[in-house]
Parts: sequence; structure tokens; C-alpha cells
Amino acid sequence: MIKFLDLQKINAQYATELKKVAAEVIDSGWFLLGEQVKQFEANLVAFQEGGNAVAVANGLDALRLIFKAYIELGVMEEGDEVIVPANTYIASVLAITDNKLVPVLVEPDFDTYNLDLNLIESKITSKTKAIMVVHLYGSVCWSEELEILAKKYNLQLIEDNAQAIGARWKGIRTGDLGDAAGFSFYPGKNLGALGDSGAVTTKDPELAKAIRTLANYGSSQKYVNQYQGLNSRMDEMQAAFLNVKLRYVDVETMRRQEIAKYYIAHIKNDKILLPSEGKVGEHVWHLFVIRSTNRDELQAYLQENQIQTLIHYPIPLHKQECYISMSDISLPITELIHEEVLSLPISPVMTQEDVEKVVEVLNSYTAV
Ligand SMILES: *Cc1c(COP(=O)(O)O)cnc(C)c1O
Repeated sequence: MIKFLDLQKINAQYATELKKVAAEVIDSGWFLLGEQVKQFEANLVAFQEGGNAVAVANGLDALRLIFKAYIELGVMEEGDEVIVPANTYIASVLAITDNKLVPVLVEPDFDTYNLDLNLIESKITSKTKAIMVVHLYGSVCWSEELEILAKKYNLQLIEDNAQAIGARWKGIRTGDLGDAAGFSFYPGKNLGALGDSGAVTTKDPELAKAIRTLANYGSSQKYVNQYQGLNSRMDEMQAAFLNVKLRYVDVETMRRQEIAKYYIAHIKNDKILLPSEGKVGEHVWHLFVIRSTNRDELQAYLQENQIQTLIHYPIPLHKQECYISMSDISLPITELIHEEVLSLPISPVMTQEDVEKVVEVLNSYTAV
């Protein structure tokens, strides 16, 4: 079986180093708000080539804390609107609604599956305070027009960078493009911890400070509470693991890009729609998402042929039970994408033989 993502194999590459740093953390007797986290934040700032980084408990919290901080700083208030893609993982939108802000869902572009930037301006109202872009599947969603629009209407630009660490737009890392960005280090992400963790990056030191305080009970001085905060801290163990793994992100990204290039050049089947390769560096291939009108049948066929695939995502968020109030919104492109997408295995530990097998099986697929 070619696994969708072999986490055991991915982490086995670094097992010696991971075990060594785990032992160091255990021996240190210090598990939160310590040197490993401080070091990780410095390493992330170096990786991002500038800015501020705050390590937090997970990617959802990273995004939640950005909005929470903007509310505390008086930039946003309950009931304000945030423009967000309808085609995303639900966490992007949970971060908005958790803060009693209103998500305004916008359809994706058929070529990139990312937010259609041309549709944004018509969605802006007097209540709009931010645009959240999601670099979905690892593909950069950004443009100069977007920056101009944000300036014109005085909107914050927030990046959900959970899937795109390491990508660049015109040489700039995602996570540095907007006013603030949320990262996830969920084990299956391109930089995965051995548990949950996340981070916020921002050029704004005041925002970074508010987020750091909010993530620690709203307190920056022990037992003195400035805000009604959360407990959302990255622990020392995860930071230690991430300090090891961050060094390999760019190399692993290159392997993902190689596999994507190979898939795009060699998968030839008129029943299958391939993703576009995009500009160099603008896609880090967290996911390699194809489309087929016979998606479920194709998935079963691949499974029979020992290739594991996943669907990102099977149910659009406006059709989820928790967002029943949004169920009447017309989002035909988003809905069609959810019916047709299928994610192929793409991971830095796939062998060339695995990659060739995936191509061969897909090329011999004939829809019934
Ligand atoms: C994974 C993910 C998140 C949430 O990150 P967690 O660490 O799982 O909380 C948010 N947005 C997107 C697009 C994601 O893929």
C-alpha cells in the first residue's frame, strides 16, 4: 500500500535527533515558556526572514488569537465582517466566528481553488475589517491588487498559512505577506510537530505582544491579567522537535515540488483534471489535488490498486451542521469542487517507484 502520508517514515529520518532533544527537555525539568520555545520563535523569524513570531498551541488558536488581539486593540469589534474563502478547511472560519465576527464567504477560482481575488471588492461593506486569505493546498493566494484593495478600504490582511510554510510570492515568504499569519504544525502539515502546535507571525510588534499575552491567560506578568485570555502555549517538547524539523523544511519542499512536477508531466488521462503547476516557488504542495467527475469511483479504484488517497474536503463548511445558518448561501463552485477533488499521496518520503506506480495506475484508469 502506498500510504497517503507515512508519518512514521517522515519522522524516522530525524529519529536520532528527535530522541536526543526529547531527552534534553525531560532532563531540563522545564516544560513551558522556556528556552526551546524561545529558540523556535527565533528560528521561525530567521526562516521567515524577519518579523515577530509567537508560538502557540495549534493552528486554529493562532488564527483565533489574531482576531482576539485585533478586538482587544480596538481594531475590530463584535459583528464586524471578515472576507474568507468558502473553499477552505473549517478552522479558518471557526477562528472568525469564535470571536463573534461574521465570515463573508467568497467563491474560489477554478484554476487555483484559492479565493477568487476578483470577487472580493463587491463583498466589502462598511462592516468589513479584514480579508483572510488561505494558501490552500500550499499554493500562494496573493496579488498586488489585493494589497491595493486592503489599503483603499483600510482592511487587515490575514494569512491562513497552515498549509503553505516555505512558499514564496515574489521572493517573500507566505506568512510575511499580510498583517498577520497563522501557522499550524499539526503532525501532517509540511512542518509537523509530534502533537499539536502552531504560531503567529506578524510585522507588528504591538500585535505580537497582545497575542503573546492573550495566549498566556491574558497575562504578561505572573498573576497580573490584562485581558481575558486563553491558555494556548506551545510546549517545550514540541518546540524542541520543531527546532530539529524546521531545518529540513526547504529540502522536503523541494522533494514535494519534484513529485508534483513529475505527476503533472506524466499523468495523462482525460478523466482526470490536474492542478496547475503555478509559478516557481509559489506552491509547496502540501496537497496534490486532482479532480474527477467520477471522484468516488476513482478513489475506490486507487484503493484497490494499493494507493491511499484522501478528500480535502468532502463537505463544504456552509453545509456543515454547525453552520446551518449559512446553508442557503449559493456557492456552486465551492460545492462542485467538494464533489470532485481527490488528494494523491505526495510526501517527501515517497520513493520514485511509489511516484511512478501512482502515475501508472492513474493512466490506466478508465471510467465506467
Ligand atoms: C490545519 C489547518 C488549520 C488548523 O490548524 P490546527 O493546528 O489543526 O489547529 C487551519 N487552517 C487550515 C487551512 C489548515 O489546513
